[in-house]
Amino acid sequence: MSECVFCRIVARKVPASIVQDDGDVLAFRDLNPQAPVHLLLIPKSHIASVSDVTMEQAPIVGQLLGLANRLAKQAGLMDSGYRLVINCGSGAGQSVFHLHLHLLGGRPFRWPPG
Ligand code: 5GP
Ligand code: ZN
Repeated sequence: MSECVFCRIVARKVPASIVQDDGDVLAFRDLNPQAPVHLLLIPKSHIASVSDVTMEQAPIVGQLLGLANRLAKQAGLMDSGYRLVINCGSGAGQSVFHLHLHLLGGRPFRWPPG
């Protein structure tokens, strides 16, 4: 069994508040939310980071964006706006090395993020 916590969530070995299980991709609530809406969207297959995505795997990124679009609409974020974030590498704040897209909404966001 993988040591990776997100692989363990996919395998239902670690509990998570799953909001969408959609074939190749999964969305669940972040354990430590940074906004009223804070979802993590992941491919079910293990890819360590966005910089590891091969040309063959690139369609999964499109699936993540498609799911983000649907979930943002579902959460009523279209008027207020929302933020999608992928941290790549520990220097950029990546702490879980299984590709994930943060979907954040429900509060104002500043730019640049700092
Ligand atoms: P990163 O810093 O790698 O971009 O984001 C990792 C995110 O995963 C963090 O926001 C953190 O709160 C979340 N996280 C870490 N472990 C777990 C977990 O076991 N369950 C859930 N739901 N979120 C987690
Ligand atoms: Zn993994």
